[in-house]
Amino acid sequence: MLATLRSIAESVSQQANLDTALVCFVQMVKDAMKTQCCSIYFADYSQDNFVLMATEGLNPDAVGKFRIGFTEGLVGLVAQREEPINIAFAKSHPRFKLSPEVNEEGYNAFLSVPVVHQKKVLGVIVVQQKMARVFSQDEESFLITLSAQLASQLAHAEIKEVLRQDESSHQTSVLKGVSSAPGIGIGTAFVLLPKLDFKSIELQKNSDVTEQRRLFTQAVAATRKEFNTLSMTLSDSIPQEALAVFDVYQQLLDAKSLGHNVEVQLLEGWCAKSALKIVIERLISQFNAMQDPYIKERAVDVKDIGLRVLHHLVNTEHAVKDYPADTILIANTLTPAMLAEVPKGHLAGVVSVNGSANSHASILTRAMGIPAIWGIEDLPLLQFDGKPMILDAFAGRLYISPSQMLLDEYADLQHQDNLLNNRFLAEQEYESITLDGEHVSLLLNAGLELKTDQNNAHVCDGVGLYRTEAWFMQKGQFPSQLEQENWYREVLTSYYPNAVVMRTLDIGGDKVLDYFNITEENPFLGWRGIRISLDHPELFLDQLKAMLKANIGLGNLKIMLPMISGTEEVDEALGLFEQAYFELNEHFPEQQIDRPDIGIMLEVPSSVFMLPEWSKKVDFCSVGSNDLTQYLLAVDRANARVAELFNPYHPGVLRVLSKIADECENYELPFSLCGELGGDPEGAILLIAMGYRRLSMNLSSLNKVKWVLRRLSVADMEQLLSECLAQSTAKQVLRLTRNFMLEHNLGDLFYTPK
Ligand code: PEP
Ligand code: MG
Repeated sequence: MLATLRSIAESVSQQANLDTALVCFVQMVKDAMKTQCCSIYFADYSQDNFVLMATEGLNPDAVGKFRIGFTEGLVGLVAQREEPINIAFAKSHPRFKLSPEVNEEGYNAFLSVPVVHQKKVLGVIVVQQKMARVFSQDEESFLITLSAQLASQLAHAEIKEVLRQDESSHQTSVLKGVSSAPGIGIGTAFVLLPKLDFKSIELQKNSDVTEQRRLFTQAVAATRKEFNTLSMTLSDSIPQEALAVFDVYQQLLDAKSLGHNVEVQLLEGWCAKSALKIVIERLISQFNAMQDPYIKERAVDVKDIGLRVLHHLVNTEHAVKDYPADTILIANTLTPAMLAEVPKGHLAGVVSVNGSANSHASILTRAMGIPAIWGIEDLPLLQFDGKPMILDAFAGRLYISPSQMLLDEYADLQHQDNLLNNRFLAEQEYESITLDGEHVSLLLNAGLELKTDQNNAHVCDGVGLYRTEAWFMQKGQFPSQLEQENWYREVLTSYYPNAVVMRTLDIGGDKVLDYFNITEENPFLGWRGIRISLDHPELFLDQLKAMLKANIGLGNLKIMLPMISGTEEVDEALGLFEQAYFELNEHFPEQQIDRPDIGIMLEVPSSVFMLPEWSKKVDFCSVGSNDLTQYLLAVDRANARVAELFNPYHPGVLRVLSKIADECENYELPFSLCGELGGDPEGAILLIAMGYRRLSMNLSSLNKVKWVLRRLSVADMEQLLSECLAQSTAKQVLRLTRNFMLEHNLGDLFYTPK
């Protein structure tokens, strides 16, 4: 059964367009289930009905024409119930609707399952048979598995089809994502090539067979050369027999095997890349289907060879390109390094397929003030390259090839957004004080931008979180103690005399160092933050000493420990700090080495309940609401699929944040918050009402939050908080905060276009 499922999925994915994919699908399912009829319907939400997309067994003339309402017939019932229906006599079911145009009178047995993608019913698969019988449990689970497996494939195929049609009709296409940094970007798509694989190759025709043959021959020649070089390089270090593998590779590249098959596809009108994709994928599934484990293994070789040829093909087509002046950067999984590569001033927006608003690359886009959306459909990205785009990161939409009218509309909205930001900017040097006179320290989250921005020092009350790991991520190896010392000194000097809270190395999770391999099943629950530092005291001591030395003569350093979950970690980390301090004093007796305040991050739920003990051991704490939300709600902060569940306005999270404020006040432990929630105006006012008087955030949030809190009183915020804490869903909380802002004439903040 598994092999059949796999072979259906593979064959469908190899089809050139949605229509042929569906034809292939119904044919294969009908054969595999040995029935007389298989059909697939797609939901058309604009007309509230299902349209017959492909059939083997019903009237072929009805394809594309026959429609049945969302609430009609058995097809409608399957979709309404979102569960399979398996009956022996379809006609005797009260919901059966006779539709003479499809010619289904002869069928009795009826098995149907919905195709659901991200909670949305995309369509319905129906299998029918003349003989009246209930399909077996195995048959039912086969169809359910197939539908689940194909749901995302069909969803993507549908979107691809819309894009393709729009291309020919010059219409605008829209893709949806999750907004992660607000704003509007208007520009040209620049697609960062994902790691090449055949999945990312869109099947395309090209009638210039001679040119496509030339491209293919050239790529094969380059691959041969590559193998020759490889085998020569390895000839000294591996036995002669092992080198024979290269002969096999060369044979596979021969005109008689790969060349011949590709030629057939070229003659059918496919372009070189598509022809290669078709041949290699076919060979891989043939090898995979073999019983003999040795032959089966050869699928890996075929794939390797295919990818190498593909690599040369793509490289000849895509010479090195310059980033357009208005780059909308599109990538599969965006990383901080990718952002850093775009020349200054060229970045108009960012789109990433994977990741979410809480990943570190996303936090960086917010810090840079670049509009960004995450979690768009996983499409063959290359087809977007060079296209004009509008990125509406307020609404989480990406418009491809927008019309002039839409461009004008968005240019106007962008202008109004700039005016609003200028209003924030105009007050950036004012005191951050509420209407009823409460001062709230607004601190900067720094480090991610990889430079100390001296220009920002005067608009904040210091740095509440300096993420040291971002700098480590740019290096090719662990920086030496001296290198670190110089860097930290530069940072401390920039903000002097204001304090800088430097966080010790917080790698793991979605923050990886190229030179320190951590491969884990559950990286956010694994080797992260302080756990790594304690397992590598040599690295930790180096970092602590570098910080202490950098602070000599300045005295504005505070040290913060990330991801603390137990008392042992607090004790061990403080013990290592003592060791670093002692050793430095011993080495530099003539120097006055300050003893900075040491604090912990509250980001693991257990820490909230340990404050009675830990308040006696440490000097301060700061809430990492990003991780605290992740761990309280059990939602991976970097996973686009569950991004909607990551919500710090969840009453459970708010109640914990409020408890932390109460506990810290009770135990007289200075506290602040440095997660993204503090930089969101609605989050900031709830936190101020809870008692937080130190909030750390990125620069653009800082100006906005200051502007907001200067227009509100703590008394009003407290009233709002008490209502919010009594709610049972994040949605209810956000409705209250939104109304509150509107009632206080702060509606401009939520100016969301379209
Ligand atoms: C947090 O978890 O809230 C935090 C500030 O740390 P980071 O986002 O770097 O994990
Ligand atoms: Mg964190």
